[in-house]
Amino acid sequence: MTYAYDDQNIFAKILRGEIPCAKVYESDHALAFSDIAPKAPHHVLVIPKGPYVCYDHFARAASDAEILDYTRAIGAVCLQLGVTPEDGGDGYRLIANAGRDGVQEVPHLHVHILAGRNIGPMVVMRP
Ligand code: AMP
Repeated sequence: MTYAYDDQNIFAKILRGEIPCAKVYESDHALAFSDIAPKAPHHVLVIPKGPYVCYDHFARAASDAEILDYTRAIGAVCLQLGVTPEDGGDGYRLIANAGRDGVQEVPHLHVHILAGRNIGPMVVMRP
């Protein structure tokens, strides 16, 4: 399976500096910024800098260095936000939507970090 990466997606434009973002964290292979339409007091998106459409694409195609750095970036952002339960924080939820059924709007891998309030049930079932 080959993923067709659309380099005109909005996060690709953020990575190229064509549109601004509210940066929270940056590393060699990852960038984190505030979601433009926050669903919680903390709503941060963490993206890899490489051209990966969704999580499974990244997990299969990224280099070990990218996977390590991206995973560490998510941990660093949680620590920075003060939401890590191990450090006395109140916790958070990670969400990574993919494709049509996952209702992914932006076709560049991003993990949502939602925190700062009770995030509620994992999935609201619709008929
Ligand atoms: P998803 O449905 O998982 O693809 O989520 C895409 C997210 O990107 C949504 O929560 C949007 O609010 C967010 N978003 C879209 N454009 C921007 C932007 N320019 N800066 C920050 N977040 C954005």
